Amino acid sequence: MTDFKTLDDLGDLTGKVALVRVDLNVPMQDGAVTDDTRIRAFRPTVDQLSQKGAKVLLLSHFGRPGGRKSSTLSLSMVVGDVEKVLGREIMFVPEIAGDIVAQSLGIMRAGEVAILENSRFYPGEEANDADFAKAIAANADIYVNDAFSAAHRAHATTEGLAHLLPSYAGRAMEAELKALSAALDNPVHPVAAVVGGAKVSSKLDVLTHLVGKVDHLIIGGGMANTFLAARGVDVGKSLCEHDLADTAESIMDAADKAGCTVHLPYDVVVAKEFKTGAPARTINVHEVAADDMILDLGASATEALGDVLKTCRTLVWNGPLGAFETPPFDEATVALARTAAALTQDGSLTSVAGGGDTVAALAHAGVTEDFSYISTAGGAFLEWMEGKELPGVAALRG
Ligand code: ADP
Ligand code: MG
Repeated sequence: MTDFKTLDDLGDLTGKVALVRVDLNVPMQDGAVTDDTRIRAFRPTVDQLSQKGAKVLLLSHFGRPGGRKSSTLSLSMVVGDVEKVLGREIMFVPEIAGDIVAQSLGIMRAGEVAILENSRFYPGEEANDADFAKAIAANADIYVNDAFSAAHRAHATTEGLAHLLPSYAGRAMEAELKALSAALDNPVHPVAAVVGGAKVSSKLDVLTHLVGKVDHLIIGGGMANTFLAARGVDVGKSLCEHDLADTAESIMDAADKAGCTVHLPYDVVVAKEFKTGAPARTINVHEVAADDMILDLGASATEALGDVLKTCRTLVWNGPLGAFETPPFDEATVALARTAAALTQDGSLTSVAGGGDTVAALAHAGVTEDFSYISTAGGAFLEWMEGKELPGVAALRG
């Protein structure tokens, strides 16, 4: 992972202008940021560029204004929260290119930081228009991308700019690429993948890619039902994509050929209704009644999966094993997450996880700090798990 430049490759930047693509697409309520994870993530990059004397211009999209200005989606709204997290004054520039930006740079001193207006106010952003990117680049000397979470999009501020200016990965981008690369590109074997969540259809490409990469494929969540049904198990009223039986079969065949062991649950937790505290039974997969719903893996299956992890050196996890938002159907996810966390802390396992609900599930299990790396990148993380080259990352490689 040394085929892109990082901040280590930069010397003194006094008076130079650094465009830094960050992810300020943060959740907000009543004018305040409700989760500042993404802001904290880019702080080291901004601090280091500022220390080197650069004038730092932050670029980001916010919401979906569709190429038009929108008073409710101005990045001016996040300035106060960014100031709080970065512990410094931040200027706001109500444009992304042109004279207004040039004039603002004229009054900024070395080391100062400004946020430029929402990149998606301009149609050139999502069109990755070369002239739009050139207009942004005209005010700057270097480009730093610190937004892995936006790197699956080939937009002007995530991809186009990298072709116009000397380009560098920011610290958060660098850490994410190193962690993900250690988990799948160049992992220490044996490697286990946990894939769970609601539906096979949303993760077909993930499954297909992983089968050729990992030694153990652990399938949980609603998608396990589709695989069980394909194997002839009656899954009752469970969430199940019966029309994907052939697909599930061919994934299992491909795994066989690649020497990848697929793990399906042999005991499951079922209930007649899907609500918190619903009466639940743990049964063998062959005992599911017509009016039962499978909502979690059973304790025996979960323990056996823990034993599989004990033989592995690397784990990549996407998707909860059960309907974890609705206790008691969180138990398998919590138990396996804690096993993985303990193995990571013991030093025997490198563990990487990602996905919107997965991040929430691991937080619910209390293991957020104990995994090697947890990606909050959502769509970009999934595309990476599908084995796709992300345009924003590819452009940094030059
Ligand atoms: P991620 O966001 O991490 O990629 P997904 O969106 O694919 O994960 O899946 C998460 C959802 O899957 C959760 O809302 C969870 O309740 C649901 N789920 C997991 N197991 C089951 C199940 N057995 N039946 C129904 N829903 C399930
Ligand atoms: Mg999800």
